[in-house]
Parts: sequence; C-alpha cells; structure tokens
Amino acid sequence: MDILVLNSGSSSIKFQVISMPEEKVIAKGIVERIGLEEPFLKYKKGDGEYQKFTRPDKIDHKIALQWVLDTLTDKEIGVLESLSSIGAVGHRVVHGGEAFSGSVLITDEVIKALEDNIELAPLHNPANLMGIYACKELMPGTPMVGVFDTAFHQTMPKHAYLYALPIELYEKYRVRRYGFHGTSHRYVSQRAAELVGKPIEELKIITVHVGNGASVAAVKYGKSVDTSMGFTPLEGLVMGTRCGDIDPALPIWLQRKFNMTPDEVDQYLNKKSGILGLMGGKTYDMREVEDGYLAGEPDATLAFEIYAYRIKKYIGAYAAAMGGLDVLVFTAGVGENSPPLRELVCRDLEFLGIKIDKERNNVRGTALISTDDSKVKVFSIATNEELVIARDTYEIVTKEEK
Ligand code: AMP
Repeated sequence: MDILVLNSGSSSIKFQVISMPEEKVIAKGIVERIGLEEPFLKYKKGDGEYQKFTRPDKIDHKIALQWVLDTLTDKEIGVLESLSSIGAVGHRVVHGGEAFSGSVLITDEVIKALEDNIELAPLHNPANLMGIYACKELMPGTPMVGVFDTAFHQTMPKHAYLYALPIELYEKYRVRRYGFHGTSHRYVSQRAAELVGKPIEELKIITVHVGNGASVAAVKYGKSVDTSMGFTPLEGLVMGTRCGDIDPALPIWLQRKFNMTPDEVDQYLNKKSGILGLMGGKTYDMREVEDGYLAGEPDATLAFEIYAYRIKKYIGAYAAAMGGLDVLVFTAGVGENSPPLRELVCRDLEFLGIKIDKERNNVRGTALISTDDSKVKVFSIATNEELVIARDTYEIVTKEEK
C-alpha cells in the first residue's frame, strides 16, 4: 500500500509517498511559498534528482495539494497510476493536547478536537488542519491518520509536566508542559535500542533532537518521562531563532521597558532570539556558526558554547531524573551533522560514563560515536519522522480493514 505522508506548515507542504510494508520512499518533495508570490514545487522520484517547478499565481493549501497530486500522477514524471493507488494519508499534527496519546484515524470528532486545540498551538495546528481539509476535499474516501508531535510525551508524570502556577490554570485551561518533536524522539530512541541490541524497556535513554527547533527527552524504559519543550516549543534549549529557557520575568520587563505588545514579545522571543539573536541578527544557520567556532571567531564561539552548554545541562538533569543513563542519542540537522557540537556537549561528562571517540565522532548520519569502554553508548542517529508517520498510518488503516 502506498501512503502519502503530509507535513503542512503555514506556507509549505512537505510530502513523501512511502510504499508499505516495504518502507520504500518512491517520491518526495515540498511546495513552498503557499499564500505568497511565486510558489514553487520541488519534487523527486525515488533516488532521482530534484526537479523544480514554478507557477505565477498565488496558491492556497488546497491548490498546493492538488499540484502535488497532479505531479504524483503525471504520466511522464509521476509515480502513481492514479490517486486510487494512495491507500491512506498520514498527517503530521503538531498539537494533540491531552486528547491524543497516540496516532489516530482522523474522523469528524478528531477534526473537532484539533480545532479545539488551535488555542494551544496557534502557529501550527491551523496549517496542519488546512492539509487535512484539503485532503478531505480532494481525496474523499481515502482514510487519514493523524500523528502528533505531542503524543509520545503524554507519558510524562504530573511532577514533570505541571508548572508551579495556580493549579486552576491547569484544571481550567490545560496550561501544562506538553513537549514536541515526539515522533522523532520516539523513532531515535527505538532505533538506539535496536543498535544496542537490548529491549527498550531495559534502557534509560536521552535523545537530543537539535535542528532549527531543538529539544531533549528523557526516555526511561521506552516512555518519555520528561522533555525540554513545554506549553509551547519556546521552552528549553537554545534554538535557531528561539531563546529557550529564560527568566520568566524577562517578557514582563520587555513589555514595560519597550512598550511591547504581546505579539511583539512573542516575535522577539520566537523569531529574533536564540542563535540569531546571539549572532547579532547575522545568521541562524548552525553550519556558519560551527565554521566560525572552528575558526575561533568570538561571536560564533560564544553562540556555539551557549548552545552546547544548555544541552549539557539538560543531559545532567535528565540523567538525574532517570536515576542513570545507558544511551545518549544526537539527532536532527545539527545533531546528525556536527561532530564539534557533539564533542563540546560531551566534553567533561566522563563522570556520567560518557566517553566520545574522536575518530568515530567524525561522521554524519547514523553511527556509534562512543569509545568501547564508555559506560554510556553514544550515537548519532538520522531521524525519520516520515517513516514513523507511514508506519503508524499503515498499522491503523490495515487494522481498521481487518
Ligand atoms: P533541521 O531543522 O533538523 O532540518 O536542521 C536544520 C539545522 O541543521 C540548520 O541550522 C542547519 O544549519 C543545521 N545543519 C545542517 N547541516 C549541518 C552541519 N554540517 N553542521 C552543523 N549544522 C548543520
């Protein structure tokens, strides 16, 4: 069965077609600049090269999805005989709130629950819903599954997910820590257990997902027991343009000092801070920051050190939270590709049983990077959220059919 995996953002739709159960990617791509001038579609078949197509009109999510479907079924460049070859669609959904602790078949009730969650994820859920509405219209009758970024973290205990705020804020408004990137933390923790050759139920694992967004998770015996993102993806690590943990009094200070509106504070902390802020607005691309660090440039070195130090603190905290550590995993754009970052994070962590092998660490993608005598096995693992979405979708729709 071919599964269409969709990740609808506010101005883009990422897609993959994955044949299941073979887990073979037969096509993938992205439509960018939805709602803006000069939208374009990048597309490739299997192992082929990317092709880029442009169009002059402004498009919405429905037209963008139609463009994807037309491309996938095109006689010359397509990979599908017709739309009916798509057995199901798997949607990435950012916020499932407390309603979803696993992936689900999308019904009208599920759509309603997602609409109710918009207040919790105003930046992401509306875009995810656009993808769902577009599919419903263009592919009626094709089952859809929702896979939530928050679901994996629904196992967090109350003492980890509650803030020390008046309890009615949680009871009435569900203000609590949710955590995100759950699909990635789940995938790499399972992959790490496979690579170690032990059941995940016997392992204490810390997964460090560092890309443009970044979060750490404590995965104890297969379950997420804590994670660094909270009520929103702003909490925790230093990210490309987000500040991560700060004194909660600071936004109030910003409002008073600069007369900022709530929206301006939101933009300031989410879009102008993090690496971008530390680099004086010059860049948030970690490749450039890494180059600057290696060349000894002062601003890049400081930004890189702050970024690594925050990760190191969370590793210490989560080892304490789990009462030990067996496996440490680095993943996502920076985690998979930056040996200097992994080296700096793990430096001086021998007391925790973490020893990096310099040669082994000099890799990109999936590999063991710790020494043979390191008590904690350290890995770089390429994440694959689309594969998890395809697996969950396939499992749910084939179970429904049985
Ligand atoms: P992601 O959000 O997972 O796609 O990750 C994007 C981030 O990964 C960007 O900040 C990139 O600069 C960063 N990245 C990609 N390749 C490298 C690399 N070789 N070294 C350092 N950072 C990288």
